[in-house]
Amino acid sequence: MRVAIFGTGYVGLVTGTCLAEVGHHVVCVDIDQAKVEGLNRGVIPIYEPGLEPMVKANHAAGRLRFTTDAASAIAHGEVLFIAVGTPPDEDGSADLKYVLAVARTIGRHVDGPAVVVNKSTVPVGTADKVRAAISEELQARGVDHDFDVVSNPEFLKEGDAVADCMRPDRIVIGATRPAAVSRMRRLYAPFNRNRDRIVEMDVRSAELTKYAANAMLATKISFMNEIANIAERVGADVEQVRKGIGSDPRIGWHFIYPGAGYGGSCFPKDVQALARTAQQYGHEPQLLNAVEAVNNGQKGHLFELIQRHYDRGEDEGVAGKTFAVWGLAFKPNTDDMREASSRRLLQQLWDAGARVQAFDPEATHEAQRIFGERDDLRFCDNADAALEGADALVVVTEWKQFRSPDFGRIKAALKDDVVFDGRNLYEPVDIEAAGLAYYAIGRGRSV
Ligand code: NAD
Repeated sequence: MRVAIFGTGYVGLVTGTCLAEVGHHVVCVDIDQAKVEGLNRGVIPIYEPGLEPMVKANHAAGRLRFTTDAASAIAHGEVLFIAVGTPPDEDGSADLKYVLAVARTIGRHVDGPAVVVNKSTVPVGTADKVRAAISEELQARGVDHDFDVVSNPEFLKEGDAVADCMRPDRIVIGATRPAAVSRMRRLYAPFNRNRDRIVEMDVRSAELTKYAANAMLATKISFMNEIANIAERVGADVEQVRKGIGSDPRIGWHFIYPGAGYGGSCFPKDVQALARTAQQYGHEPQLLNAVEAVNNGQKGHLFELIQRHYDRGEDEGVAGKTFAVWGLAFKPNTDDMREASSRRLLQQLWDAGARVQAFDPEATHEAQRIFGERDDLRFCDNADAALEGADALVVVTEWKQFRSPDFGRIKAALKDDVVFDGRNLYEPVDIEAAGLAYYAIGRGRSV
């Protein structure tokens, strides 16, 4: 089938590439000319495992094209995807300006019946707004084309996006008319062979499903962070508690890891946006408010542990210290630093007069873009280099390569022999046996 996708970010680029991979003819449109030019030269703007070779192969095969020319893309597509950003507005609700701009562009250029598919994460009722925006432009042109607006929220995980897209758990399709559903079924047929993953529903339910999924996952994380904070005070070890509850199939092992708080481009903004939607409809979302508040607190927790350690010692506190920071991305296998816990931590360290030597396997260029040149920040080429001359180590992102370091080498490199672990990667007995003081999240003795 012929597909046009607006937005070549994490969602649009991965979706477009996977659709091309199974044989569809995809044109990706973006307003960012540099991004489009780069993609046409084979420069992939994001780090996502497996993406680069797939983009290059499908581009070379002529099934995947990149353009800034919206009109030609609209003329090409039987299905028109909207996959642009929906960042938080000032009050936390989703800002629909990019989504509605695409809708108006479609209305200005569409030249026949169309299926417009909203893949961006958008509040309930957005399909109606997209429909109205397209209709307005059609009216202004004095034409009347039949079109559907379908909700097809995206559930891919950054860091695993290609695999998620090629083998989705479920494909949610919210539509009103059967013809639109069958077109979507035809589009997704190659991903839907061994069992039916398509969940059909009405448009509003599909829009809410995406928020419900992310809010549930964020709730699990905040819940576990709450338990970690209790564990820390009562002298229990949250890692043992985690094993104790995860074995209950009603609870399960996923998303019950305590840590330095959730970040990324989705959970923080989606929890907030759902809360704002609830309020707009007269419901105070007490649980969502608490999930957000716990997460905000948790993002400052690593620094609290650091501060407590240094205030307790004979040193003069955190000022003047140099911290090796392992991990900047909001989670492993991505270069995305949107709402990353590292951002809060680094700011707190700098505000307290400390210096940072940071290493991240993929996010350095993004961190350079965000923080610019600073005297109190040095980027390092590897984890060992970040330790050289540092007083303490802080682990912020659980990249695999940080999981079993040589504790002897860490001890030899650090001046203050102390490790702060925001992701509970190590066994306290192992690291303490190497002569290092160890602070983690919710592990009793950190208090
Ligand atoms: P992104 O910020 O990485 O990319 C958005 C892209 O859209 C940018 O390249 C931007 O230049 C482009 N754009 C903006 N206006 C445009 C226009 N008028 N025409 C064409 N392109 C335009 O965003 P993302 O992370 O891919 O997220 C997109 C949507 O998908 C958001 O609603 C997000 O919540 C949702 N989502 C994201 C993820 C994720 O893991 N990132 C997962 C599921 C859903």
